[in-house]
Amino acid sequence: MQDCIFCEIANRRIETEILFEDDDIIAFSDINPIAPVHVLFIPKKHIESVSDISKEDKMLMGNMIFQAKEMAVRLGIDKNGYKLLFRTGQDGGQEIPHIHLHLIGGAKLYEEIRPV
Ligand code: 5GP
Ligand code: ZN
Repeated sequence: MQDCIFCEIANRRIETEILFEDDDIIAFSDINPIAPVHVLFIPKKHIESVSDISKEDKMLMGNMIFQAKEMAVRLGIDKNGYKLLFRTGQDGGQEIPHIHLHLIGGAKLYEEIRPV
């Protein structure tokens, strides 16, 4: 997908330190971390949001969650816990229109959910 920054990262057109990669997904650190650990998992293929996943993507989405769990273990944040987050669409606050799973942890996380 043209003009998609996460496609650019997945295709290595933007230099980024890759923390995990397999045939279908990659993981890299968030450029603006909100916690000591803040990693993004993305599919290599362009899918805009969770609203756009199809039946064929079920394994892919499960793999993203599985690999995020594995990364949490590798980074030593699994014992205390962490947050996995998919923002979806406008009300969900999604800024980058290419599915990404946030793995956030390494500190006690607070959250505020209220209408703006
Ligand atoms: P969203 O709000 O869409 O769920 O999250 C987008 C995330 O992508 C944000 O946490 C933001 O900091 C991160 N981000 C945006 N542009 C880049 C980039 O070019 N490189 C990296 N590594 N992260 C990015
Ligand atoms: Zn994309």
